[in-house]
Amino acid sequence: MVVVYSALVMGALGLAFGLFLAYSNEKFKVEEDPKVKMVLEVLPGINCGACGYPGCEGYANAVVKKGDSYDKCLPGRKSGVTEKIKEIMES
Ligand code: SF4
Repeated sequence: MVVVYSALVMGALGLAFGLFLAYSNEKFKVEEDPKVKMVLEVLPGINCGACGYPGCEGYANAVVKKGDSYDKCLPGRKSGVTEKIKEIMES
């Protein structure tokens, strides 16, 4: 009988915590600007820091949210990253 009670208690706790996590996920959801992901996709992804940010994601956020210049990615210049970022930001 102890096993049945234990299983019921653990099941109830699992359900309660699952519902809490689902609620928290919806309540505290952070809306991300889709342009950040688009800019991130055209960056080389080397995470070298030459742009002055800790990685490509930091630079993508700075371009979209803070209006930083499009030409700071040195490794991406030859492959036209600057123009691709400009297209995304002006669309
Ligand atoms: S310079 Fe370019 S490749 Fe290097 S971290 Fe910045 S965005 Fe990424």
